[in-house]
Amino acid sequence: MKILLNNTSLFESLRPFNDLGFVPTMGGIHKGHLSLINKSNKLCKKTIVSIFVNPKQFNNKKDLKSYPTNIKEDLKILKKSKKVDFIYLPKFNDIFKDKKKSKIKLPKKDKILCAKFRKGHFEGVLDVMNKLTKIVKPQKIFMGEKDFQQLYLVKKKLEKKYKTKVIPCKTIRDKNKIALSSRNLLLNKSNLNIAANIYKKLADIKKNIKKYKNISNFLIIKKKELKNNYKIKIDYLELRNKKNLKISKTINNSRLFIAYYINNVRLIDNL
Ligand code: AMP
Repeated sequence: MKILLNNTSLFESLRPFNDLGFVPTMGGIHKGHLSLINKSNKLCKKTIVSIFVNPKQFNNKKDLKSYPTNIKEDLKILKKSKKVDFIYLPKFNDIFKDKKKSKIKLPKKDKILCAKFRKGHFEGVLDVMNKLTKIVKPQKIFMGEKDFQQLYLVKKKLEKKYKTKVIPCKTIRDKNKIALSSRNLLLNKSNLNIAANIYKKLADIKKNIKKYKNISNFLIIKKKELKNNYKIKIDYLELRNKKNLKISKTINNSRLFIAYYINNVRLIDNL
């Protein structure tokens, strides 16, 4: 496992390879990340993982400051996995060396779900993914369905522009069915219990949804119930088509999307 600390060493090391799988992360490596790495390792000759906490995608300074990072521990886990060939640990200037402001803008139809509640977040994600893809030049990029809207937008943007394929990977959950996330490190035991209960409720809502003619109204009621029962703030609870992310009036080809806060920690899930 070779550690690449700057672009010169990255360009030199990657030059011989033309079957490269790329797993971009912000660190806090967990089994969700490792599942992407495993898939890359199976489908590609070489796998490169990046760890970069991208300040441009944080619409909230406090959130950036509290984002859990532990490079030493991450490197230990990645080395132990024996599935990673290269780790790219860029500095801000390796990625954003040209000071030009990014021109990336989301069209109005994409300003839904997290894009509606986290202003500038996906512009920041698309900016860094655009830059990383230009630098790493991978044949395949592995991304998690846990961040479904991110996966959808990156796929739409990058596959058109570069010769790369974005490969979706299933959400990995812990034994309580909570979606694994680096942010879970910010939750205490009682917070995690609430998240586990919320997952159960969501699974129940999804199971029952087909009984209701007016799904939007049903979800408004359920959102209120979740909010009051668990004393949480909910940004959205919506059923959307998984191909185009339009609001869905039927359960077919659809996923239930939620974003909510426990103890000021913002969690997202979809099922
Ligand atoms: P992050 O480090 O949170 O930016 O995530 C890096 C990549 O790992 C993204 O493509 C995420 O969607 C993916 N990921 C994060 N959590 C999970 C999970 N529980 N299951 C599968 N993929 C995940």
